[in-house]
Amino acid sequence: MPYTTPSPLTRLRAAVVLAPAVSVCLVAASAPPVPLGVGDRLFPHLGNPGYDVMAYDLSFTYSGGATEPLGAVTTISARATADLDRINLDFAHGTVDSVEVDGEPAGFASAGEDLVITPEDALDEGDRTRITVRHTSDPVHPENRQGGWVRTADGLAMANQADAAHLVFPCNDHPSDKAYFTIRVTAPDGHTAVASGLPEGRYPAGDGATTWTYRTRHPMATELAQVSVGRTTVLHRTGPHGLPLRDVVPTRYRAALEPWLEKTSEQIAWMESKVGRYPFETYGLLMADASTGFELETQTLSLFERRLFTEPAHPVWYVESIMVHELAHQWFGDSVSPRTWSDLWLNEGHATWYEALYAEERAGRTLTARMKAAYGASDRWRAAGGPPAAPEPPEPGRKTGIFRPNVYDGSALVLYALRQTIGVPAFDRLERTWVTRHRDSSATTADFVRLASEVSGRDLDAFFDAWLHGEKTPPMPGHPDWKATEATAPPAAAK
Ligand SMILES: [Zn+2]
Repeated sequence: MPYTTPSPLTRLRAAVVLAPAVSVCLVAASAPPVPLGVGDRLFPHLGNPGYDVMAYDLSFTYSGGATEPLGAVTTISARATADLDRINLDFAHGTVDSVEVDGEPAGFASAGEDLVITPEDALDEGDRTRITVRHTSDPVHPENRQGGWVRTADGLAMANQADAAHLVFPCNDHPSDKAYFTIRVTAPDGHTAVASGLPEGRYPAGDGATTWTYRTRHPMATELAQVSVGRTTVLHRTGPHGLPLRDVVPTRYRAALEPWLEKTSEQIAWMESKVGRYPFETYGLLMADASTGFELETQTLSLFERRLFTEPAHPVWYVESIMVHELAHQWFGDSVSPRTWSDLWLNEGHATWYEALYAEERAGRTLTARMKAAYGASDRWRAAGGPPAAPEPPEPGRKTGIFRPNVYDGSALVLYALRQTIGVPAFDRLERTWVTRHRDSSATTADFVRLASEVSGRDLDAFFDAWLHGEKTPPMPGHPDWKATEATAPPAAAK
């Protein structure tokens, strides 16, 4: 997710309260419900212990009005990994009408940003369970909170990274628990609905509406789900090896966007020449008519601001490199997800790396020059937001959250130092092995350090400790003349 446009918007964590309907429901257990988390250092209340989600089935009913809450049914198929008399889901922005666990009505209450469910019968470790929540999904953001639904000029899109999927649907909102998704959208005729994964057909839903269904062929993190509904056109083409490509564009910008969209196939071929086969069942760009201030690598369907392409504020090579950035995330961040949010540098460092490499190979913007500039700023970035693999928690009121320069160019710099140290052949082997070994899964910084050592045949613990956790940037191998520089411009990620 690179930021491409500045915005004064703030991102305060607001106290979000479920609607009063919740409070009348009985909670059987005697102790008050409490919010839980999986212990993420940066987002302590994200995710929940005690179960593993296998599949989500999401149904949304869109009225055609982008400020009206959508009707929604979320069904979660999960396996208990502990004995549970309560099940915590993350959900913080909608009205819950009812909850069923394995077909039986269950009690529920809100606690912090959790929906706490008390099933009639407690779950034993190893039990499979089906949880159905009937709720609304509100596209109007809570006060001072961003993320989740994005309102576009013609409908809605989704941007859940890092901690906003649970503003849209109840879930285990942490990338360590990936699952398969079936997404159904019912919308008035004249609207088009598209979601992550491949289409499974559409059928009339009565009253002049149509239900569209999509299903992922690979597990996906909640933060990477995408749902687009609007007055859009879906454009189909074929990529390398017959890969189906589909782009979603505001219908009136179709012609203007076509020259950009036809670049995707070649970009996929370029990425495949670097790291191997594209990891998913389809790819495409969702050109949202919205001012988000960022682009986002939602799985199989990356979210872009339409105006990035139709209102040129950047040179062509730069826009192309941003396209490659989101494409590279499909391998780095989507197929291989961060186990915790402190591993974010693995997403953004690699996406920035291939973004910069593409700009070098296709536009002569040398990687070494970019890395030298990053080296100059690196100590300042570390001081401002922490070292790459130990970023400081998001600050209330700062829209960038954990997406600071140090996880972009500051982390690509770590990869550059690694390539300087182990050489190009070992580095290339590492990249290919990484996305193969951990595909459809999540992985940690320690996994990367271990694999780099294995592939290069060297003990790299001390190298990574200094580069990923040091307060100061170590000397750059092969460039003893590179030095920290004085600040001359705003940090890159705020541009
Ligand atoms: Zn990114």
